[in-house]
Amino acid sequence: MHSKSGIDRAFARVGNLLSLWAALLAAYSTNQLTLLQKRWADFGSRPWVAELSRSARRLMVAIGRLDLRELSRTAPMQVGVGAALGVLLLAAVWAGVANGSQPAASTPESAVALSSEMADGAASAPGAELPADAPKVGIQAGHWKTNEYPAELAKLRSSTGAAGSGWREVDVNLDIARRVVAILDKSGVRAELLPATVPVQYEADAFVSIHGDANGSTSVSGYKAARATSSRIPEKDDALVRTIESEYQAATGLKKHPGTITQNMTQYYAFNKKLDHAVGDQTPSVILELGFLTTKSDRDLLTQQPDKVAEGIAAGILDYLGESGAVAA
Ligand SMILES: [Zn+2]
Repeated sequence: MHSKSGIDRAFARVGNLLSLWAALLAAYSTNQLTLLQKRWADFGSRPWVAELSRSARRLMVAIGRLDLRELSRTAPMQVGVGAALGVLLLAAVWAGVANGSQPAASTPESAVALSSEMADGAASAPGAELPADAPKVGIQAGHWKTNEYPAELAKLRSSTGAAGSGWREVDVNLDIARRVVAILDKSGVRAELLPATVPVQYEADAFVSIHGDANGSTSVSGYKAARATSSRIPEKDDALVRTIESEYQAATGLKKHPGTITQNMTQYYAFNKKLDHAVGDQTPSVILELGFLTTKSDRDLLTQQPDKVAEGIAAGILDYLGESGAVAA
């Protein structure tokens, strides 16, 4: 047996201290990493961050459609101003994030509002407490804010909708659309109230446009639901048509009005793939004519029992989301 020398013992002690220190360092880093990950996840799940990144993606899509080289030849001034605004916006967003200030709704919305096509969706985006993966549904109030149509929809500005016995279609559409949004919101769906101008390449788990009908005869009655003839996702669109028809009929007692589905429905401008302000081709979309404003019984139903009408539409959408797996049925 021989005992360790003093030098050996000193080495052993330093070695022990080093490994203790390394273990402490490892534990500390793991802890910090977990904290960091959690903070990052919290940050990402804030609704305004999600909304901001969604609008940024849409903006990128919109920018992707521009031929920047061509544009800078024909309109260099506008491109310059646009780029400067973009830099300012980025700086503002960065400053807000770096501040770590949990902003009130005003900061993200004013940032988002700069992208004009987002303004309405953002302003009406409810349910800040909904989880980030909640299904998203767009409810369009037909003819609402036709004065805001962009140039590509200018020829629609004169199409202000039907009327019957003093009731304007746009008012009925908006009232019902608001009620549908409120019901969906309560059901855990991120529902957005949309005006006649759809945000550029609007993407959602479902899109329903709400309209009212008119007819020369004051005895025709019924509703109609249709999807685009040019749909890239006809099965999904048809499923949405089917669930809305079935629930709408059950809630309102209205019958389907046969044979009057027009091109205004099957080639509805919001379904037009050549337009920027239209739904994306992967968004299941339906246009619904609630009933005839020119027929007393239909008009009375739509104006005196709007909750019943809205419940039918919302139930149809929820059925579809359940079937398609967007929400647990
Ligand atoms: Zn209409």
